[in-house]
Amino acid sequence: MEHTEQKTWPVHDPERPNPPVVHPGDAALQAPSSDATVLLDGTTLAGWEHLDGAPAGWTLGNGFVEVAAGTGDIRTRQSFGDCQLYVEWAAPVPVEGEGQQRGNSGVFLMAQYEIQVLDSYENPTYADGQAAAIYGQMPPLVNACLPPGAWQTYQILFRRPRFDSSGQVRRPAFMTIFHNGILVQDHVRLTGPTAHKERPPYTEHPPRLPLRLQDHGDPVRFKRIWIRDLEPEDSE
Ligand code: MG
Repeated sequence: MEHTEQKTWPVHDPERPNPPVVHPGDAALQAPSSDATVLLDGTTLAGWEHLDGAPAGWTLGNGFVEVAAGTGDIRTRQSFGDCQLYVEWAAPVPVEGEGQQRGNSGVFLMAQYEIQVLDSYENPTYADGQAAAIYGQMPPLVNACLPPGAWQTYQILFRRPRFDSSGQVRRPAFMTIFHNGILVQDHVRLTGPTAHKERPPYTEHPPRLPLRLQDHGDPVRFKRIWIRDLEPEDSE
């Protein structure tokens, strides 16, 4: 099957095959490059806010940030378009819940294109909703999850959609993702923004928008997040 094509799988189809489990050899953590913008270093939430503009109310731990359930999603104060993004996250210990209710969060490029964060270590769920899925659209090529509590990494290459002067999609968004160093999304074309139980079409939006992290009610942790801006000048 051509992985970059969406084919005919309905959204969240329970019959869609789950990818094979692969144990990453070494989920090496990577410090930011000299040209990266550090969005999170585990010591402050200064660069983040809630969607209503209030200061980010998630919990600061000893070198990490934890989702404070019920406080809502947070987003960066800065906006980005095309980018290379690095994210460290860890699923909660002790393990609670199952399926979508275990270690659920999310990384939303441009606040609307979600890469699922979920404790997918020995925790079945629908394929397009497991960790490293482009939520509701594309399962990862393999399940490279580490056990809950372990720091895991996403390395993401994101190309934003382009719109023509009438607001129509001239070029869709694409994502390539490595989970714990393992290729899980290979230049996948996005069908549109993320939604639950549907795949809405693209809606025209600005070329730069914040990065957003999801409060799905679970105490998922994030440590370092850094980004390399791939279009420092607006490059159409
Ligand atoms: Mg999520």
